[in-house]
Amino acid sequence: MPGPARHRSSVLSSTYARVVADRRTQNDPPRILLLAGSSEASVLAKRLTALREVSVISSFAGRVKDLSLPPGQVRVGGFGGPEGLARWMTDERIAAVIDATHPFTAHMPGHVVLACESAGVPHLRVLRPEWVPEPGDQWSVVPDIDTAAQTLGTLGARRVLLTTGRQELAPFAVAGSYIWFVVRCIEKPEPMPLAQAEVLLSRGPFSLGGETALMRSHRIDTIVTKNSGGSATAPKLEAARQLGITVVMIARPPTIGPSVGTTGQALDWCRDLFGLSSVP
Ligand code: NAP
Repeated sequence: MPGPARHRSSVLSSTYARVVADRRTQNDPPRILLLAGSSEASVLAKRLTALREVSVISSFAGRVKDLSLPPGQVRVGGFGGPEGLARWMTDERIAAVIDATHPFTAHMPGHVVLACESAGVPHLRVLRPEWVPEPGDQWSVVPDIDTAAQTLGTLGARRVLLTTGRQELAPFAVAGSYIWFVVRCIEKPEPMPLAQAEVLLSRGPFSLGGETALMRSHRIDTIVTKNSGGSATAPKLEAARQLGITVVMIARPPTIGPSVGTTGQALDWCRDLFGLSSVP
């Protein structure tokens, strides 16, 4: 779970204050590295670039070909691990880092903590709250994607809506030849490791009506999803509840470092850190 209060004492420490001061010049506003990959990152890019008191560089991994570019500076591609990130931050005089990557991002959050702690740069992760089961939900909570694939056999799944992304389909290839998958993702999976599958290319937000119609028309009996949280893709959970469909819910990976749950809290953090008079 996010730890909303923990960041304040650390960012206001004298070490961080010195780094923030060292990395800004008279004519150059302090530079924030915003690690993108979530809807929260887009919101933060818009709101922070509206300020004159800071400048923002949004960074993307480069996985999605059709990037919807936020306002402000943008860079694409990895940094070369934590050491590369620390070097890049020094070269670019980065005064603070906001990690707004997706909640299931595998390595980058750990790299941010290592690089920022070694360089003494204040950092914060924005991690939207998890979904929690409600009365009527039939969730099977699993720790990872491999267990999710194995669980389908145990559950007797036959027609599965897979919403875990195009990069992690391979584990489901061993799930059983009797399962038909409807794979929903933003870009086409290449290669496609599943023999019995239909691909639906679409990007949220999704509606309850649309999700219900999709599950009915494809006769879905099981959904596999990561516990990403947020409202954009939550209607599938409500549709599943109403239709009595089982959800295989992949639990969040552990979190390290200071974090907050909302973009508003991240903006408050920036305001405190840089002494901003107002945040739009
Ligand atoms: P990952 O394992 O942490 O990414 C692999 C490498 O890609 C990282 O070590 C880093 O390279 C680079 N990278 C990741 N995010 C970056 C960023 N925002 N800017 C610059 N370089 C970045 O993460 P992943 O799980 O493959 O996810 C990759 C991206 O897709 C993330 O930005 C994430 O927000 C987004 N995404 C992931 C998921 C998911 O379920 N995993 C879902 C939706 C969106 P270096 O080590 O060379 O710096």
